[in-house]
Amino acid sequence: MKRKTIIILSLLLILVVPAAADAYYAPGDKWGSSTVYYMNDTNLSGTATSCINAMANAWTDAPGNWVLRNAGPHTAYWTKASFKAKGWPDWPGISAVSVNMSHIVTGVTSYLNTDYNWNNSGIMNVSTRNCDYKTISLHEMGHWGVLDHPSLIGQNHPEAVMQPAWVAKQSLTTDDKSGIDYLY
Ligand SMILES: [Zn+2]
Repeated sequence: MKRKTIIILSLLLILVVPAAADAYYAPGDKWGSSTVYYMNDTNLSGTATSCINAMANAWTDAPGNWVLRNAGPHTAYWTKASFKAKGWPDWPGISAVSVNMSHIVTGVTSYLNTDYNWNNSGIMNVSTRNCDYKTISLHEMGHWGVLDHPSLIGQNHPEAVMQPAWVAKQSLTTDDKSGIDYLY
């Protein structure tokens, strides 16, 4: 009986420990450098670019070495498109992350969906199709760091920026910060 308990406990440890370590890192993909240079497409409005830059700074200010710079030759890019025209899912934002055979991220492009009405005042309403630039750009730039949605890896963090929801999330939570700090 005792031995059985020990075996079960060992199994639990084996199951639990890697899960914690993999929490923000499910695919094993990562940037080779902790500083990522990005560019905003000139097709984006001034409001969009200022929101994107502010949210990039929020990630940069989080604990750890992850830095997002709007300067120089870039491997990350922000633009916009009609997702309907492209035949994509009707989501506010999508990030396409390129990864090489060694699981090193080589680039990313994030798209804002022009089929939504955009604002910078935290209005997130699926029925009126209103979207907040800061909420969406903060979330998508978490995907740049290869953070995933907590619910996809069995974690319950409804408050996290990385957990999609139709509510304003304009600042990083402890869970988001722990994730990016863990990775970089
Ligand atoms: Zn997402």
